[in-house]
Amino acid sequence: MVDSLMNTYARFPVAFERGDGAWLWDTDGRRYLDALSGIAVCGLGHAHPAVTEALRNQAGMLVHTSNLYRIPAQEELADALTGLSGLDKVFFCNSGAEANEAAIKLCRFHGHRKGIDLPVVVAMEGGFHGRTLATLTATGSRKVQAGFEPLVQGFVRVPYNDLDSLSTVAAARNDLVAVMLEPLLGEGGIVVPDPGYLEGVREICDRHGLLLVLDEVQTGMGRTGKWFAHQHSALVPDVMTLAKSLGNGVPIGACIARGDAADVLVPGSHGSTFGGNPLACTAALAVIRTMREEDIPGRAARLGDYLQGRFCEQLASSELVRAVRGRGLMIGIELTRPCGDLVRQALDKGLLINVTAERVIRLLPPLIIDQAQADQIVATVSDLVREFRAAA
Ligand code: PLP
Repeated sequence: MVDSLMNTYARFPVAFERGDGAWLWDTDGRRYLDALSGIAVCGLGHAHPAVTEALRNQAGMLVHTSNLYRIPAQEELADALTGLSGLDKVFFCNSGAEANEAAIKLCRFHGHRKGIDLPVVVAMEGGFHGRTLATLTATGSRKVQAGFEPLVQGFVRVPYNDLDSLSTVAAARNDLVAVMLEPLLGEGGIVVPDPGYLEGVREICDRHGLLLVLDEVQTGMGRTGKWFAHQHSALVPDVMTLAKSLGNGVPIGACIARGDAADVLVPGSHGSTFGGNPLACTAALAVIRTMREEDIPGRAARLGDYLQGRFCEQLASSELVRAVRGRGLMIGIELTRPCGDLVRQALDKGLLINVTAERVIRLLPPLIIDQAQADQIVATVSDLVREFRAAA
């Protein structure tokens, strides 16, 4: 490892050289099965031919111009995303944190227009929204915030999956402008809220005139078995943010809004040099085209059910396993004790996984995995859990 990198990641001493679908090869030629997708990024797997070809063609033609000019691929992508989501307008940026920053700025601008001088956004305990100052303030984790005080003003927090708390806060304050949350918690431990929760949040927002902002950075683009995770429920957000798998690894984020919220930002109020450039938008268009043609969300739903079912069979009797949960190919296996060591042990067995919220094994495989690969994930992870129990 080199000394010239800032020490922001505790990296494993392995480097990948190439990939193909759900497989990765390291610089020593060893093959790994990827059950993490670069943390929910490579939904179509590695080196997907449609994305590769689109990138190759576009890179040879034009990579970047500027948002000072029209960008046809950006316009086409905005149409595609509004079509898929039922929302009205898109702002493009480069990451999840930036998409959420745009959403927060939009909410504040909207609040000022309504005459609220110091608008406040309600965020959730256990939520994760990014590492910029505003998004780490919105993030409900002291670990993410510690050392970066002073935090940004204008946020209050309520417990996730708790409509009563939200309702109480909404009724008690007159400076609120929005509620911001993930439709299911990713970093927070793959927490699926109760049926009716999101509809309940929508209802509270409507009752109090608040914008509902859904962070679908991790859950979006087919990951949970629908294009967007909230589409499992009967509601439409006012604002939705995307990033991660939108470009299958090419950095791109999007803040999408509807109705009045879609017209809040105006020239001069927000911007991004790279946001929605021709290369990134071409990649995202190839992703959407492929996902549509191959019904990738449907595939994620089927394989996710299969994987969860197999894990329940394999691990139901283990007293170390508290729960197997998730949606589509966003799966968490919560153990009764911290299990961060499993990530290294899985790597040694040729499998890429992650552990979040200390004791939740998080699986986010590419949405294109086949059943044999799903079986291999189940077998390896189940063995690891059994060995972990034996070593306890
Ligand atoms: N929002 C959610 C729900 C996320 O899971 C993440 C990243 O894990 C982010 C926002 C931040 O995205 P980025 O790392 O692209 O800034």
